[in-house]
Amino acid sequence: MNTLWGILGGGFLAYLLSRKKDESPPAPSPASVPAPPAPGMRPLTLDDYVRGCEAEAPSGSLDKATLAGFRALTPYVYLIWQVVRGEAHVRGWYRPPACNARRGGASRSRHLAGYAVDMDFTPAQTAALVDKLQSLGAIDSRKRVIAPSRWGDFVRSSLGIDENVGLKIYASGNIHIDIGCPPGTPLCDPRTSDWLVVDV
Ligand SMILES: [Zn+2]
Repeated sequence: MNTLWGILGGGFLAYLLSRKKDESPPAPSPASVPAPPAPGMRPLTLDDYVRGCEAEAPSGSLDKATLAGFRALTPYVYLIWQVVRGEAHVRGWYRPPACNARRGGASRSRHLAGYAVDMDFTPAQTAALVDKLQSLGAIDSRKRVIAPSRWGDFVRSSLGIDENVGLKIYASGNIHIDIGCPPGTPLCDPRTSDWLVVDV
């Protein structure tokens, strides 16, 4: 198993290295999503993107602006899958306002613009992510947050993307990640710093 993941990890690393930091991302369009997954991992789909909000946002109805969040966050999801050595169920991602209200989301939730994603982790996956944060020095041996930017630095260097990141980890296995939005993104405030919540 370790060898298999070593091979998959190598492929994923090659994929990451193939990304150019200064390369501007292609304009989002329904025909060009998502980014390619790491070898052996399932591709994320628009069904993941609208999960729980299918009534308000059928996947076939999404316009380019709405799909921008899907394109932007997909590499982060694949990176976290790599860290925890396995895929995770996507619980929710893009929530148009009506769906966000129905589900009791925060009024300024980054899910509104599709720049946040929730996943369900197994206990082993949660432990792997906690181990990673400890190895990075982002949290201490008692799981207290001491340096959120260590996580952000790891993500930026791994993806070659200059963006601040947020991460919440709950003992229930619910994982929330979000990133800043480009200026002018509807329903999304620009992010100013990395942040990290670990409640396990
Ligand atoms: Zn969330």
